[in-house]
Amino acid sequence: MTQTIHHRLHILEAADWKDGVITLLEPRSPYRPWRYAFGEARAGDYAMLVLRTDPVSVLTVLARVGEEDDLGGAMLDLPRYRADIVDLSTLAMMLGLNDNAFTTWRLDDDDAEAVILALHERRLHGDPYDRCGHSSLIAARNLLRFSGGCHGCGTEIDLSKVDTREQVHVHTVDPSPRPEPDSPIRTDEGASDRLGVPWLRSEATDWPAVICRRCRDRMRDGGYTSFVDFRFAQHPQCPHCGGRRASAIQYGMPADPQSWGPWLTIGGCCVRGEEWRCGLCGHEW
Ligand SMILES: [Zn+2]
Ligand SMILES: [Zn+2]
Repeated sequence: MTQTIHHRLHILEAADWKDGVITLLEPRSPYRPWRYAFGEARAGDYAMLVLRTDPVSVLTVLARVGEEDDLGGAMLDLPRYRADIVDLSTLAMMLGLNDNAFTTWRLDDDDAEAVILALHERRLHGDPYDRCGHSSLIAARNLLRFSGGCHGCGTEIDLSKVDTREQVHVHTVDPSPRPEPDSPIRTDEGASDRLGVPWLRSEATDWPAVICRRCRDRMRDGGYTSFVDFRFAQHPQCPHCGGRRASAIQYGMPADPQSWGPWLTIGGCCVRGEEWRCGLCGHEW
């Protein structure tokens, strides 16, 4: 006797993407943005989380329906997986899901299986390039990677409050063009000077960030349109050349150095006494 596994994939949708991401980061949040269809849900069923961003997006980690067979109790183990979001219409195209991806509250059988296989715990590659742009999908992606401390001042932002949505802000940036192509004329110095130097970090004039309300106001009141300029303005002046382009030296082995903001310098694993590096004259102190 052959046993057929019937896959069912329920859909939870957050009408407000920001509230939705806040509840994912902080389950104690009082926000209740998730909508779902009541119906037969069994413990262990998967649920896909959809955010009404522009364009509509879907999380790369699926939730599981909990013991109470209740979609309201769908569990998402965010601390365990690194969640990201992808554009739902691209996913629907790749998997041949037709309108169902946008209209139904449950996908069954082949469609459900295709989504589970394609999406669950998949990692996106391309940070920080995939965090650039001004759409609400990009803003949600940046917020989803937020780990609690304001990127501007380091202050912890409490995500469990009623007014959290007014306290946390995403600074979005223009997408970057590709770097200039290498010259077709090869020279002895080689064309790969950029190797080892993450390109965007060295060229970026702005950087995506999640900031507290105070930093948002300070940026606005100080006339800063670039988060990079805002960060450098808070660092000390170079004692050697007097420039205002000091980056903070971080020691240790970074897991993902190209995603670091340009105001940080990778100091390597040998901890030295120097804390700052001037981006204009190279002086360290
Ligand atoms: Zn701040
Ligand atoms: Zn200097």
